[in-house]
Amino acid sequence: MRSFIYQSQPARVIFGAHSLDRLPEEIQRLGASRALVLCTPEQRGQAQAVADRIGPRAAGLFDRAVMHVPIDTAQAAREEAKRLGADCCIAVGGGSTTGLAKAIALVSELPILAVPTTYAGSEMTPIWGLTEGGIKKTGRDLRVLPRTVIYDPVLTLTMPAMLSATSGMNAIAHCVEALYAEDANPIVSLMAEEGIRALAASLPAVVKNPIDLEARAEALYGAWLGGSSLGAVGMALHHKLCHVLGGTFNLPHAETHTVVLPYAAAFNAPAAPEAMARVARALGTRDAAAGLFALSSSMGAPTALSQIGMKEGDLDRAAELAVLNPYYNPRAITREAIRALLDDAFRGRPPAPRPNGGEP
Ligand code: NAD
Repeated sequence: MRSFIYQSQPARVIFGAHSLDRLPEEIQRLGASRALVLCTPEQRGQAQAVADRIGPRAAGLFDRAVMHVPIDTAQAAREEAKRLGADCCIAVGGGSTTGLAKAIALVSELPILAVPTTYAGSEMTPIWGLTEGGIKKTGRDLRVLPRTVIYDPVLTLTMPAMLSATSGMNAIAHCVEALYAEDANPIVSLMAEEGIRALAASLPAVVKNPIDLEARAEALYGAWLGGSSLGAVGMALHHKLCHVLGGTFNLPHAETHTVVLPYAAAFNAPAAPEAMARVARALGTRDAAAGLFALSSSMGAPTALSQIGMKEGDLDRAAELAVLNPYYNPRAITREAIRALLDDAFRGRPPAPRPNGGEP
């Protein structure tokens, strides 16, 4: 067995239908009594219901979370937390809302209690992001890792079917790249494989019937494992491509992950045969990349960059940006190879099938 380093992240997780009932005692456990509740404008109703539940422990509600945490929004939320004398933040929402709570914690060290309502997984990572002048900066800092996470699948019942499919593929992407990460280790790989299995088993049922609570619970469990994998080990080509496509070309986060994942997997397959065998096993298919493509197609999710706002004329620039800063990937990257990958992804061609463990 290869030597490895494993470091667990210090987070408390409460999982299960109606686990939100435990919110008041969990706030108390943090030693807090004046919570600032955060949400997007779209989820104000859901967040207000959370604030109502905790009564006097809610110091206020800030409903301006948006994708990628613009610096102005972060500053406004930081000032609101200060003005109210908040002693913790409760993030009710997806990655955008958790990201806003992290922006507050980064400068104030206020503890975060996260109540995730999508499958993005940010609640399990010490990764923060802030966007200024069109450029998104990210970093790792343990101060932004939520102290407590309440996973209540009841809150995900309202997630639209297509966001559920794409957000779920985003979570699968964390698991896939964790399996071939530079610092992969057997513990995180167990979580990653189980995450793919749980998500692949539940997402089609969720999309068919978004109020199927049992399927919702299994998908959220898989998302937790995906977030844990993302927080524990480094990512590679797939996440780099999605960062470029989202950051520079403004493509939507979860949809971009959904489209790119089968192509990144097909590209990396020859260099990561063991990881791909585990992905295929978790999906119940022979080939990892083909299995990922089939899963998103079967849910009616987008399968081509052309469907989600990418312009063909920007593919050259995207390929250039993707190879700009050297980063770890199990297979060596060239501009030509990435340009070809992006061309396949732009047109939604089925990713080239490669047998498990085989050479290209
Ligand atoms: P999101 O948080 O932007 O949510 C998308 C939309 O769906 C929003 O309008 C939101 O209000 C709505 N929504 C969320 N849950 C809902 C529900 N249950 N019912 C109804 N509507 C609901 O999307 P996301 O994909 O969760 O997060 C994307 C952002 O998170 C990106 O900025 C990404 O970079 C970031 N992210 C960060 C990390 C990290 O570790 N730092 C990890 C993953 C994603």
